[in-house]
Amino acid sequence: MSILQSNKVIAIEEHYIDPNVTKLQEANTTNTRIRNPKMVSRMEDFGGERIEEMDATGIDIQILSIAPPGVHNLPKDIAVTAAKQTNDYLANKMSQNPNRFRGFAALPMQDPQAAARELERAVKDLNFVGGMIHGLTNSQFDDGKASWPVYETAAKLDVPIYLHPGMPHHEVRNIYYKDYTEEFALFPQAAWGYTVETATMAIRLVLSRVFETIPNLKIILGHLGETLPFLLWRVNHNLKRPGNAPIEFREVFCNNFYVTTSGNFSDPALLCCMQELGVDRILFAIDWPFIDNKLGTDWFEKLAISKEDKIKILSGNSSRIFKL
Ligand code: MN
Repeated sequence: MSILQSNKVIAIEEHYIDPNVTKLQEANTTNTRIRNPKMVSRMEDFGGERIEEMDATGIDIQILSIAPPGVHNLPKDIAVTAAKQTNDYLANKMSQNPNRFRGFAALPMQDPQAAARELERAVKDLNFVGGMIHGLTNSQFDDGKASWPVYETAAKLDVPIYLHPGMPHHEVRNIYYKDYTEEFALFPQAAWGYTVETATMAIRLVLSRVFETIPNLKIILGHLGETLPFLLWRVNHNLKRPGNAPIEFREVFCNNFYVTTSGNFSDPALLCCMQELGVDRILFAIDWPFIDNKLGTDWFEKLAISKEDKIKILSGNSSRIFKL
């Protein structure tokens, strides 16, 4: 009997598209991403293939989040309204199938006070499990003190913030990636660029000392930690060499961060996370529909780790963190 069919499985980085947000992006931004129409229709649908593919692979619950860039590329006032509207939209979809869907709130980080209020509304009134930040907000990182109201509110509500990748800054795209983008479209995205952006944001958040002020803040990283578990020794060691202010990078990373399996189904990468963070900080995720459920569930089924650890990753840890 498959361990995924016989145990509760919660997949926590699974996406949807809200057609109203797409319209706002088309009307208010110049660099709207061109998406595969088949992918769009899969993400706009909350029944059909989504549920069939969950059932076929033993996934009981998807914790849904808007597809990147979320509302992060919209002008401030529009982003605040769009976040409220799409959180209401997702809450309505969740209420139609409450046993299968939960949600992360879209956050208008352009206005951190409004984003904090929206996170509180989404958690208290709409039953969301946390908030998600999708990479840069109009070309800015969200680690500075101006953004801290969101982290204060997350800690007060005891919900995590998921740092999801977004597009690299346009200058970074030009300098680092442009030469190979025509031939390798995903080089600046999921193949490498996203990880660099998200790992940088995570390191910046630690260096901002937000965790010294808000010690119970919980942050989630996808893709088995965006390379940081693999580099933890080196990052920590070099931040302790002369020339650096005192910072406990390893301690913060191991106490305040969680990682998910989204889109990184590698035995050695998972074992590295288990060694550095411990199994209690690893959560199951696919990154549907960018990744097929079956690719993740087949990998997980065959993994040579204990059944107890598998059950923790599949749902035990997320049930605890999200109080499901
Ligand atoms: Mn994703």
